[in-house]
Amino acid sequence: MSSSALPWATPAAATAGNAIALYARWSPALDAKIEAAVQRLREASIAHGQGLVQSSSLGVEDMVVTDLIARHQLPIDIATLDTGKLHPETLGLLPRIQAQYGRDVAVFQPKQEHVIAFVQREGEDAMFKSIELRKACCGVRKLEPLGRMLAGRSAWITGLRREQSGARAEVAFDEDDGQGRRKISPIADWTWAEVWAYVERFAVPTNPLHDQFMPSIGCAPCTRAIAVGEDFRAGRWWWEDSSKECGLHAKS
Ligand code: SF4
Repeated sequence: MSSSALPWATPAAATAGNAIALYARWSPALDAKIEAAVQRLREASIAHGQGLVQSSSLGVEDMVVTDLIARHQLPIDIATLDTGKLHPETLGLLPRIQAQYGRDVAVFQPKQEHVIAFVQREGEDAMFKSIELRKACCGVRKLEPLGRMLAGRSAWITGLRREQSGARAEVAFDEDDGQGRRKISPIADWTWAEVWAYVERFAVPTNPLHDQFMPSIGCAPCTRAIAVGEDFRAGRWWWEDSSKECGLHAKS
């Protein structure tokens, strides 16, 4: 098992099929980590005002961050990308966020003419043909709308955690995103067990696909369930021998 493999997912526990039952473990450090995360969000909100946005994937870490923002009534916009390839369960979180927190999530979609041209040129299954075409698909469906989401912003908030993968092991709480903005990752030091302990304690809405052994959820064609002992992101672009990143968090 590698360092970023899921903890607690023993074969016996796995039969439960419930992410909270599988993973949630409150740690002695978690109260202080929550306080520190709220403080980071508060300081970012004061520093950047309307220039700050939470870019949410609607994954469990981002749902925890949304809960922290809403619970502490921080005036931070929340936004997400709808690539046109998401699972219905993922999009189903949008009305649940509205119902639980009274917060609207701004949804950014790719430009339809770009999607149509790409699919006509490369095919609906282009992502499986090569890493270059997969990244081109991510470029059309994710990076272009992310650029619009972040236009005019001076900082954005992510749910990145250091434990998620080797590529994310150095994630800072506050860093330059390579595009002149600050990228703030308030729960970078949280463990998977702590994320789910928070979800359990505060009844955070989560994607039901997390209960089907999908710890990291992206577009439907590019996400599969993982097996016991596999890495967090093993189910993303599983056919590739790559860093399992789509470019949203690349520094250029
Ligand atoms: S994750 Fe897959 S479907 Fe989604 S944008 Fe990237 S290649 Fe395309």
